[in-house]
Amino acid sequence: MKTKPSLRKVEEEIARIKKKLAALGPMHPGSISQQYQVCGKKGCKCKHPTEPQRHGPYSKLFYVHRGKKVCRFVRADCVDQVEQRLPSYKTFRKLTDRWIELSIKLAQAEFFSGGTRQ
Ligand SMILES: [Zn+2]
Repeated sequence: MKTKPSLRKVEEEIARIKKKLAALGPMHPGSISQQYQVCGKKGCKCKHPTEPQRHGPYSKLFYVHRGKKVCRFVRADCVDQVEQRLPSYKTFRKLTDRWIELSIKLAQAEFFSGGTRQ
């Protein structure tokens, strides 16, 4: 089967996506936010009547996996490492999403007849 020039471009972009995916480092979904807490212990600084000082900040990682929302407190000494993995995941999703889009485009041209084209 001869490949049309436009389809060749699509295939080339898919090849580039695969290379980028292979080069991705460690990843993790989600985002980190800072949280302060009140422990509720009597006489604790967080319960001070005029100048309450809440505990924290604690770093909290939030993500959704298979439709389930997950919240995890990240150990203070690991926050940097976890944070570094978050952009890779975003890139991964962006690349795979684009790959799917291009695959649909390819299939559209290869297998399906649409509109006036047979
Ligand atoms: Zn407290």
